[in-house]
Amino acid sequence: MKRIPPSLASLVAIACLLTACRSTGSLRNETPHEREARIHREAVTVDTHVDWPSRQLAHPEFDAGIRHEPGIPESGQWDLPRMKEGGLDAVFLSIFTGQGELSTEGRDAAREEALAQIRLVRGLAEDYPTLAGLATGSEAILRLEREGRRALLLGMENGYPIGTDLARVEEFHREGIRYVTLCHSRTNDLCDSSTDDHRPWDGLSPFGEEVVREMNRLGIMIDISHVSDETVREVLASSRAPVIASHSGARAVCDHPRNLPDDLLVALRDHGGVVQVCLVGSFVKSLPPDPEREAAIGEIRDDLDALRRGEIHGEAAEAVRERYRAINRDHPRPLPTLADAVDHIDHIVAVAGVDHVGLGSDFDGGGGVKGLMDVYELPHLTAELLARGYSEEDVRKILGGNLLRVFRAVEQAAATPPLPE
Ligand SMILES: [Zn+2]
Repeated sequence: MKRIPPSLASLVAIACLLTACRSTGSLRNETPHEREARIHREAVTVDTHVDWPSRQLAHPEFDAGIRHEPGIPESGQWDLPRMKEGGLDAVFLSIFTGQGELSTEGRDAAREEALAQIRLVRGLAEDYPTLAGLATGSEAILRLEREGRRALLLGMENGYPIGTDLARVEEFHREGIRYVTLCHSRTNDLCDSSTDDHRPWDGLSPFGEEVVREMNRLGIMIDISHVSDETVREVLASSRAPVIASHSGARAVCDHPRNLPDDLLVALRDHGGVVQVCLVGSFVKSLPPDPEREAAIGEIRDDLDALRRGEIHGEAAEAVRERYRAINRDHPRPLPTLADAVDHIDHIVAVAGVDHVGLGSDFDGGGGVKGLMDVYELPHLTAELLARGYSEEDVRKILGGNLLRVFRAVEQAAATPPLPE
């Protein structure tokens, strides 16, 4: 077999760089698939919202260090091998607590649950040190990426575990939490929620304002997903560091109170922040339910729940799986498409610019659209962005560059003491 001498090979490479590559933005002879893979290798990619920890708490038998077959209920949508396959470098695993009573018992129980989920993430990093590592800063993401390991970060969805105790913000920072979504679907001690009619604070509570300042001091990103519009305005007025929406869409594209209206997209941009587009169907595009599918799922609901709890095994489990596959075949879940999700990205780019958008999938928490149902499919997003004419530089920003910029700015603001009032 004849080989091209190395000197000739490098001449060919240089000629390619000088001509075709510059005009097309891709290397000659690269298939679209190879181009996507190369972009993922070059980029530092970040997903700011995967709900694995709360799912894991309910399914302790699941081992996120081994690959699971995508598309079946007990596989979830994320594990470390599939994360690597999808070219995803860093993930914020969501330390999620549902909103309960605003009582001492409720707040303490939420704190315990949050700490238990944090232990799960730390345990995963310890169990699979060659696959992943815990990251508590932007530099650690870059280091792990260079080492070819996945970066696991901790984001807290719902400030409920903080309760009314400011010292807990520092406690959770010590535990590794690097963003806090101030509330979830209901109003809490910190602020009003976008999906709760009860809005006693008219935005941030006085304690919520203190929490914002404390997060600035410690270098924790403030996450405005789920909060009411008025809360977003007050956060932007109170925070001296840029903020993120870890999993939100554009309200002009899908009219849901969880999504951000154009004026807030502009305000977030002016403040230097980033909106990480969410893949939860109802926030992407409202579609009518399929009654036949609902009825069919209803018939096997108990079995599916038992399967998820790991209570049925062997042939019985396979039978339930087969029925579920048949339903998905005959009555596919009405789901928006990846193109519908990228419409949100396009809109945010049009309103706020390409420096202020990214991805927060909400995998394992209800996220997933046709074409991007699982973390291993992430390159499909890259393909869609390229097909819509985004440059490779813009794609790298959307896939993680923008989030890293905001994370660094938050770290820098923490290192710089505020001016005296
Ligand atoms: Zn959420």
